[in-house]
Amino acid sequence: MGDRKPLHVSHVQATIRCSKKKHGLQLRTRSGGHDFEGVSYISESESPFVIIDLANLRSVQVDVENEVAWVQSGAIMGELYYEIAQKSGTLAFPGALCHGVAFGRYISGGGYGLLFRKYGLAADNVIDAEFTDANGRILKQKTNGGRSVLGYSWRRNYRVSFLVATPSFKTKSDYVKKPIPEIGFQGIWSQLFEPEARGATLNFVAYGGKMDEIPESAVAFPHRKGNLYKISYKIRWREEDNVNSERYIAWMRRFYSYMKSFVSKSPREAYVNYRDLDIGKNNEDGYTTYAQMSSWGRKYFKNNFDRLVKIKTKIDPENFFRHEQSISPYFG
Ligand SMILES: Cc1cc2nc3c(=O)[nH]c(=O)nc-3n(C[C@H](O)[C@H](O)[C@H](O)COP(=O)(O)OP(=O)(O)OC[C@H]3O[C@@H](n4cnc5c(N)ncnc54)[C@H](O)[C@@H]3O)c2cc1C
Repeated sequence: MGDRKPLHVSHVQATIRCSKKKHGLQLRTRSGGHDFEGVSYISESESPFVIIDLANLRSVQVDVENEVAWVQSGAIMGELYYEIAQKSGTLAFPGALCHGVAFGRYISGGGYGLLFRKYGLAADNVIDAEFTDANGRILKQKTNGGRSVLGYSWRRNYRVSFLVATPSFKTKSDYVKKPIPEIGFQGIWSQLFEPEARGATLNFVAYGGKMDEIPESAVAFPHRKGNLYKISYKIRWREEDNVNSERYIAWMRRFYSYMKSFVSKSPREAYVNYRDLDIGKNNEDGYTTYAQMSSWGRKYFKNNFDRLVKIKTKIDPENFFRHEQSISPYFG
């Protein structure tokens, strides 16, 4: 196992080229390592892979005069809030509730927080981005027609390692468009009193406001007008209780199934930053059909899914960057 933390993007470019061309190794990219299914650092496939870990690429440059900031992917939200507060008493960024979430991935999945009903998602406030593609080239992307106040850039740091992890929670999400009737809540209460549910939490996040004004196609995140709230379901158990993990996960699946009639339908929408591999996975060989991918792609991205498949087909036709639930190029 090797472990390196370069500070410059050129090292990252070299790693991508080396992994792909010289060693034929897969890559996983990790910013903060908070992925709910751990796909940034674990794999269901037995093939070894390289982790590009962005933990050291975390600079935050705040330009108060122009009201923009350049943030590297590995910076956590708390670092951005702190740097802005150091320089200004009036500027802010509509970021995550949790200060420990890393910037690059939080934002690419949408990114909500306490200010999102007034200013939109974090992703709605991005004006520019830099990417490294599967050939190790830097691509630049201007976004959002300059209507936002802060920008960000993605750079990649890397670390080479092979890891095993034992998650002790399971998460799912839903969007609610009509009030849940009282009888629905009675069913919720009774299930929350079941023995497996002692570590269960339900979070209701109100939508509306600015979120109703931004078109569904503005960024990849599509859950806009018409949502009353999002629910996130989480069940936790102690590590020493991992032998019983299937019981807790089964409870979560039963509960999710119960909620079906009270939440969005066709598709049953879900938040991509609350990744849930139950709703679908890629084939291990890296070739997943459009129809297979649609099972989770439409839930996360609705009609924006087609656009994402087109972009992936253009930018990464060999599907070099992939994980259990990544978007594949169009393979038919
Ligand atoms: C305690 C906690 C609080 C949270 N609070 C919020 C919240 O308030 N609002 C909200 O919207 N979400 C919240 N989330 C969800 C969070 O946004 C997601 O879990 C997000 O994926 C975490 O980003 P990360 O960089 O830490 O994850 P990672 O595990 O590092 O990455 C997640 C995924 O993104 C990929 N990835 C990471 N960096 C890059 C990159 N630079 N380029 C390409 N791919 C990349 C990884 O390969 C992986 O597939 C929270 C999560 C936790 C655990």
